[in-house]
Amino acid sequence: MEYDFDLFTIGAGSGGVAASRRAASYGARVAISEHLRVGGTCVLRGCVPKKLLVYAAHFADDVADAAGYGWRVAPPVHSWPDLIAAKNQETTRLEGVYRKLLSDAGARLFEGHAKLLDAHTIEVNGKRHTAANILLAIGGHPVTPKIPGIEHVISSNEALDLPKLPRNIVIVGGGYIAVEFAGIFSGLGASVQLVIRGEELLNGFDDDVRVHLAREMRARGIVIHARTEIVKIAKRGSGFSLGTKAGAELSADCVMYATGRKPNTTGMGLAEAGVALHPESGAIKVDEWSRTSVPNIYAIGDATDMLNLTPTAIAEGRALAETLFNNNPICARTEIVPTAVFSNPTIGTVGLTEAEARAAHTAIDVYRTVFRPLKNTLSGRDEKTLMKLVVDRASDKVLGAHMVGPDAPEIIGGLAVALTCGATKQQFDRTIGIHPTASEEFVTLRTKVPEPKAKAAE
Ligand code: NDP
Repeated sequence: MEYDFDLFTIGAGSGGVAASRRAASYGARVAISEHLRVGGTCVLRGCVPKKLLVYAAHFADDVADAAGYGWRVAPPVHSWPDLIAAKNQETTRLEGVYRKLLSDAGARLFEGHAKLLDAHTIEVNGKRHTAANILLAIGGHPVTPKIPGIEHVISSNEALDLPKLPRNIVIVGGGYIAVEFAGIFSGLGASVQLVIRGEELLNGFDDDVRVHLAREMRARGIVIHARTEIVKIAKRGSGFSLGTKAGAELSADCVMYATGRKPNTTGMGLAEAGVALHPESGAIKVDEWSRTSVPNIYAIGDATDMLNLTPTAIAEGRALAETLFNNNPICARTEIVPTAVFSNPTIGTVGLTEAEARAAHTAIDVYRTVFRPLKNTLSGRDEKTLMKLVVDRASDKVLGAHMVGPDAPEIIGGLAVALTCGATKQQFDRTIGIHPTASEEFVTLRTKVPEPKAKAAE
């Protein structure tokens, strides 16, 4: 049977666009649909606008630090509406770039809500299209717990477009989004309270990183309420009051929830087409080739709820296009995926945490340093950088590298190459550092952290 298209991608975010362009470059007849704006979460509601706001917040530090270097600067004034307008102009420009990339590649764009009618038929705005292969790159959305008053809260979507900067904000959640927005709002002058249900922020990250970041965030005036659960929210005057399970009350003029995201898998005809989902998360089940339970339907990115990161969605999309249309089978799954949190200070991390390494290896060595960056000497800023290497004692391989401090994402991005190549600690030691930089510390770490047992006996 002849289909209208060789590939029909649903969702024009980073992953869907990457897959579609790569497929079209090999001569495939490609269509792509989008029901919101072309560009998706990363470009329009996530990574890119968030990072622009992170830059904005950092200028507060730069201005404060400048005095120690001889600058006399009048107290600066920030305009939130100007920042949001500039950010919106940039995301609109990027949307245009994405549209052009798709049309230059020869992919047909259908704007509207897409629905599967069967394994080869997609309906967009009442019009049917058929395709040999279908790619679900349908992303995710923020989720909030069902508690009284939850309708008053905003998510990261609205936080990026608030009409004015809140004077004080409560952010619920301790993941990537919560700590990043805590840094943004606090840097721009709001007073910030972070509410986490556990003991520490950033579950899944190395414990030293978690403790270090919390200490530095507190030093910046961010209040972290640990082991705290919000059970109700009510409007109070022009703001809100939040009741905790323990009976305490918090108040704020804006409440933001960053309590995780869920795949956009409802209302799309996935069940009708036979696409199996994970019952609890609603994520699309896929194998390592991005294949769903239906042989010609594939899924990538946040819709599969594995590693919800833009570069992994792009890698999965390109791998699929290579496999289907270039006779070049590539399995996108890799074990070593670096990640960053654009908190203030920033985090960069690649490989295993100390706890993961202890669980998976017989013996490990840990190297750690906490130091005051050179820039902070004259600025007087009392903030320290943390760096840590986790090494397998038997093979000498570096299993994990973690950093909290300025430029951590940039530095760890480079180290990710070394870890992907299987670098050993000895090879790190042989590497000549660049002086004076923070990164040189990663190649001059000599003193092992005492074993936990030996430490306890001290
Ligand atoms: P995360 O899954 O990272 O964190 C969710 C947070 O909310 C956790 O602290 C979790 O607590 C808490 N939480 C969950 N449910 C509740 C609840 N009912 N009540 C109170 N707290 C709750 O989600 P995010 O929303 O921060 O981000 C979503 C994903 O987006 C991330 O996992 C990441 O993959 C991606 N992302 C990546 C970024 C980057 O690369 N820089 C930036 C932003 C997002 P607990 O730990 O106790 O479960």
